[in-house]
Amino acid sequence: MSDNDTARIEAALDQLLAEHDPSTEGYAEFRGHQFDAGLAWVHLPERRGGLGVTPQLQRVVNRRLAEAGAAPMDLAQFFMALAGPTIATHGDDAVCQRFLRPMFTGEEKWCQLFSEPGSGSDFAGLGTRAIKDGDEWIVNGQKVWNTLAHIADFGMLVTRSDPSAPKHKGMTYFALDMRAPGVEVRPLRQITGEAEFNEVYMTDVRIPDAHRIGAEGEGWRVALTTLMNERTAIGGSGSGGAPKRGSGPISFLLDTYAVGAEQRTAVERDRVVELWIRAEVLRLTNMRAAQLARSGNPGPEGSVGKAVGAILNQDIFEASVDLRGMDGQVGYDFTFRRPSSSDMTSGGIGYAFLRARANTIEGGTTEVMKNILGEQVLGLPGEPRSDKDIPWMDVPRS
Ligand SMILES: Cc1cc2nc3c(=O)[nH]c(=O)nc-3n(C[C@H](O)[C@H](O)[C@H](O)COP(=O)(O)OP(=O)(O)OC[C@H]3O[C@@H](n4cnc5c(N)ncnc54)[C@H](O)[C@@H]3O)c2cc1C
Repeated sequence: MSDNDTARIEAALDQLLAEHDPSTEGYAEFRGHQFDAGLAWVHLPERRGGLGVTPQLQRVVNRRLAEAGAAPMDLAQFFMALAGPTIATHGDDAVCQRFLRPMFTGEEKWCQLFSEPGSGSDFAGLGTRAIKDGDEWIVNGQKVWNTLAHIADFGMLVTRSDPSAPKHKGMTYFALDMRAPGVEVRPLRQITGEAEFNEVYMTDVRIPDAHRIGAEGEGWRVALTTLMNERTAIGGSGSGGAPKRGSGPISFLLDTYAVGAEQRTAVERDRVVELWIRAEVLRLTNMRAAQLARSGNPGPEGSVGKAVGAILNQDIFEASVDLRGMDGQVGYDFTFRRPSSSDMTSGGIGYAFLRARANTIEGGTTEVMKNILGEQVLGLPGEPRSDKDIPWMDVPRS
């Protein structure tokens, strides 16, 4: 981190805060000025919401803006952590100009349209078809498990544009207007009672070629940027800054333990302490991973935090329910709801316990994270992949 870069960021912050008061200005309006000042994603080039400095300096920005009264990011903007870096890395100038600013201000919300009924872990096998027609593409297919698609303005859509190419080579990535004719979003109800995710059907949907992200046939490479950022966003090693010690899911367990703490047994205390240590080790590991991220886009080590955090969350909330005894098993409200954010910790322990079951599936299953860890971090031999080099259309599928 050079002194020059730090001084530049401090100067840009001084000017932004001298001209705009985040505690009184509207959320979207202030974030628009933050973007224009290059303080949205500091590592990106100028005019793309950054100043071309090291991503570690984003923490300086976030801390100073929070101290000045800026509202925390709206949780309905979760997918910005995935779509932002993807567009900034692979989009041309026009795509960046079109999408980055309204995404950052929250005026346009995003969702992720990757998984299909037959392609989840093997996402590169997807079949949603995109056929070029002049300056447009015609898209037909179905996506599934699409979190917050019901409130999204745009979707990160990956399609099969060349079925005769091997599966990783014939994919193309788009920004899909969720209100375009032919897009239908249907709720999928979860174990929590709510429908936070959806099925998305596309029937003869027209997408302008100007909304293509990355080159034709390069969708897999573009999608990898999304997936790597998704894992660090879920696992907690993103550039947003480390959570405080004892915050997040573990705080629920500590609060539950504190109720009637004098009657707690040594076994219960032991379980809580073990989980606290695991949470702290993960927090410190994530901090280290975030500090090592030089380029702005994370590497496969983000998958480690994702895998470990998912299992830890499940263990923490299971212990929290157990500590409450019989009381932990009653009083949960299964009313059908359509949430506008995906926040584990907002609905009490019963909700968090049920919602955490999805943690080892969403954003890539724990088994798949372990494969990535084995192959890409530890350098172990890869799984046999017999369909890698043959045309996608010749791969047998049910
Ligand atoms: C709450 C939630 C939110 C989600 N949100 C989104 C979203 O917004 N957008 C989106 O596109 N998708 C989303 N998903 C989908 C998610 O990415 C997939 O569910 C996930 O990738 C697994 O795919 P699958 O469900 O098809 O399971 P499968 O891939 O069929 O896996 C079934 C089982 O086989 C195991 N398995 C599969 N392949 C391997 C392998 N090579 N080695 C070892 N084990 C393997 C898996 O670990 C799993 O246990 C969400 C899922 C959940 C639960």
